[in-house]
Amino acid sequence: MKNLFGLDLAELESELSGEKKFRSKQIAEWIYLKNVRDFESMSNLPKNFRSKLSENFSIDRAEMISKLESKDQLTTKFLLRFSDGVAIETVAMKHDYGNSVCISSQAGCSMGCKFCASTLKGIERNLTAGEMLDQVLFVKEFFDGKLDSLVVMGSGEPLLNFDNLTKFLRMLHDLVGMSYRSMTVSTSGIIPRIHDLMKENFPITLSISLHAPLDDLRSELMPINKKFPLRDLIETGKIYADQTGRRVTYEYILIENLNDSPEIAGILAKLLKNQLASVNLIPINPVLERGFKRPSRERIEAFARILNSRGITATIRKEMGADINAACGQLRNKFLDK
Ligand code: SF4
Repeated sequence: MKNLFGLDLAELESELSGEKKFRSKQIAEWIYLKNVRDFESMSNLPKNFRSKLSENFSIDRAEMISKLESKDQLTTKFLLRFSDGVAIETVAMKHDYGNSVCISSQAGCSMGCKFCASTLKGIERNLTAGEMLDQVLFVKEFFDGKLDSLVVMGSGEPLLNFDNLTKFLRMLHDLVGMSYRSMTVSTSGIIPRIHDLMKENFPITLSISLHAPLDDLRSELMPINKKFPLRDLIETGKIYADQTGRRVTYEYILIENLNDSPEIAGILAKLLKNQLASVNLIPINPVLERGFKRPSRERIEAFARILNSRGITATIRKEMGADINAACGQLRNKFLDK
């Protein structure tokens, strides 16, 4: 049976060719806006049409395998399984400024960043646009329909799944009604794809995982840096900000005695000077298999002070979900045994 979930309007129309065009729009509303999972509930469709749909099509949604809530109840992590058995993690977060979802774009990841759990077993496969949308709708339902923003920062390098990613963003905007300005896509720095993203003209926020302002150190932490080195990446970030008018956010995981010294903060400030950019400082979250330590609070604050005093807006990210391994760099395709 053909699965209709994940099809955009044009694809629905072609699948239902021979039917009146507005029927596709009605079905899209039921599936993507009202989160309905069966054709029989689509009450504004004629009964015989609903039966025909049920006989020929399905609405395949991910199944929740497990759920973990942080102690402060602000973060909930879900393990979702798709019909082929592949599982991914999705995180729902309550902030002062609203509810957000952090989705995975690939099952696993091929990028090999040294501080990250998602890449420990390599990549399983890309997620489809529908599978990304499924995570959003799942969390939206969890929040009783009140979902304000999206970050694509879970497992995977979204720009290596470019066509599915852009289709997903478009569907989220056109069919679910989320504004592009409420969406953030994070990349480890795939320069050609950042240029492609620019051409799409979505007013989304681009977030670049930086983590070090020196090539040697960055290559050690993120092997992608050997292919797309810092200078080119920062130049691309600058072009992105200039062309889109959108501030680029640089993610910077702070690791004790590795990338957290005042000297390195100074180098980072110099690197980002005169850019429409801000820095998100993320004290490293423990990953069982990695030996990195989190710097002291004083050292983290000193790092932020240096950046701010040199005109680079730097904020220390509020820790969310580390107790359930739901924070940055901790997502996997299975829950850890407790
Ligand atoms: S940080 Fe992102 S790009 Fe790097 S390995 Fe983890 S999921 Fe992949």
